Amino acid sequence: MFVTVVRLPDGSERSFDHPVTVLDVASSIGAGLARAAIAGKVNGKLVDVSSYINDDSDLAIITEKDNESLEIIRHSSAHLLAHAVKELFPEAQVTIGPVIEDGFYYDFSYKRPFTTEDLAAIEKRMLEINKRNLSIERKVYERNEAINYFKDQGEHYKAQIIESIPGDEDVSLYFQGNFTDLCRGPHVPTTAKLKVFKLMKVAGAYWRGDSKNEMLQRIYGTAWTKKEDQKAYLHRLEEAEKRDHRKLGKQLNLFHAQEEAPGMVFWHPKGWVLWQQVEQYMREVLNNSGYQEIKTPQVLDKDLWVRSGHWENFRENMFTTNSEDRQFAIKPMNCPGHVQVFNQGLRSYRDLPVRLAEFGSCHRNEASGALHGIMRVRSFTQDDAHIFCTEEQVQAEVVDFIELLQGVYADFGFKEILVKLSTRPVKRVGSEDQWDKAEAALEAALTEKKLAWDLQPGEGAFYGPKIEFSLKDSIGRVWQCGTLQLDFSMPDRLGAEYVAEDNSRQVPVMLHRAVLGSLERFIGILIENHAGALPLWLSPEQVVVLNISKGQADYAQAVTRDLKRNNIRVSLDLRNEKITYKIREHSLQKLPYQIIIGDEEVRTETISVRNRSGADLGQMSISTFLELLSTEISVKGCTN
Ligand code: ZN
Repeated sequence: MFVTVVRLPDGSERSFDHPVTVLDVASSIGAGLARAAIAGKVNGKLVDVSSYINDDSDLAIITEKDNESLEIIRHSSAHLLAHAVKELFPEAQVTIGPVIEDGFYYDFSYKRPFTTEDLAAIEKRMLEINKRNLSIERKVYERNEAINYFKDQGEHYKAQIIESIPGDEDVSLYFQGNFTDLCRGPHVPTTAKLKVFKLMKVAGAYWRGDSKNEMLQRIYGTAWTKKEDQKAYLHRLEEAEKRDHRKLGKQLNLFHAQEEAPGMVFWHPKGWVLWQQVEQYMREVLNNSGYQEIKTPQVLDKDLWVRSGHWENFRENMFTTNSEDRQFAIKPMNCPGHVQVFNQGLRSYRDLPVRLAEFGSCHRNEASGALHGIMRVRSFTQDDAHIFCTEEQVQAEVVDFIELLQGVYADFGFKEILVKLSTRPVKRVGSEDQWDKAEAALEAALTEKKLAWDLQPGEGAFYGPKIEFSLKDSIGRVWQCGTLQLDFSMPDRLGAEYVAEDNSRQVPVMLHRAVLGSLERFIGILIENHAGALPLWLSPEQVVVLNISKGQADYAQAVTRDLKRNNIRVSLDLRNEKITYKIREHSLQKLPYQIIIGDEEVRTETISVRNRSGADLGQMSISTFLELLSTEISVKGCTN
């Protein structure tokens, strides 16, 4: 007799003596579940609810509550979009429509770009199709049959896509009403499931990403299971837009970029003050933690990069240059240079650990399309350091590093740290014993510092396991900044060694570590996190002194001098402008404090203080104000 046994996530089993679909099983459990079903997960694979379960299987019914549903909904929304476009613009041809982070897009071939009005009309039509409650059905076609089907429909791109799929396997088509798309699926069972979506923008995109091909019209959309989620997402976008560091960099006169130096930053005086605050702070932290700062060459002979392995594995990202018949590369990383410093003189086990730090300027030849403001650049500076130590010292070094990193992130105002631990990949160097010890040391260090982590098995580098540290910003975005990587390979390749207690020559373990990552990117994150209103200790200009009229100029100058003498970054604005105008202008610059000097202040030898949120802190003496500043500067990120 025909019997299919279906095991459900709670461990219970159901037997059926007839062929069943995912939906049948859901119905056998309850009508509510059947209504809520978006898809099924059969033996770990997502399928349509209409799909038959042929053998004994594990089955989970996917509803809106499951994370997997979001991707299915987004993909189905891409079809919904294409359906609406075909109804409104029958001449348009469909191409591809994948899911992307937070949404989806679809590329159309059409004679002209879609307008904002078009988008509104398409979105409206999508809602109508949603209300039609069309069932979405999968049919399997033989390859040539599918090609002919799309050719008959005038969909030449679709036909071309199938033609370019290697092999001769059947393909699946999805039908909803009079719209058909080539797709692997799975999809939601009906268009009624697609309620929460929004079209975001339209942009040009070349067919198959090749600028020699036709320019297509790409429509971006977002889709969610719940209205609240979409609302929160749109709010996040709006916040991110307001905080865009490229915009703020211009508004606050911090830096610029120009075409002659793609992916490189021109720092302006104010931006460079901010940079210096970050760098000097890190320098102090490193000095207090047993690191020694060094500086190594920018340009090194190819031969060194061959020995380090970079020439073989990283060459495409390296800028090269020639001189006197020798080939050189501009360093993409600082590590090989640091090993050269370690290698000077004979090292003893008593010297270890050796911690060499460098604000290392690196260049990487990133594709120009991937560049983004100061966040993704070709020329950047790492707060890099390499620790050379014995295997036994690894755990203690990792613990110290985590403490250092936690302190730094807290000082910059980031409270939440996310951690990922990546362990041995299939292709690797080093003995099993080395990997066992190294992974155990990293885990023990994380446990000791009471950090929770996500384990990423097999994601380590071929030369050692690693920990990645990310921080969460004020609008919930996660940025990976810190790293710590163990390396069993490079010290050996570049001949690093030390004399052990038993007089034998040993190869040290090398730890690559960075806290901020790239200073450029970290400063970009700081600007966006604070929406440009940087904490007092980081602000390029901390205070501005404003006079109301000419008569107070001398006193305003004296106040400015006094603050400067106390190491406050202060500027003076004596322009003959209305005080309200001056206040507004400096508020736009997000300056932490404004001092206003009128006749009353001159007479009583005081100052009037406003903060950047516009609050009047009243009249006070300069010494009281200095105390206030000094307290705020000393607590760094822990303000507000
Ligand atoms: Zn390194």
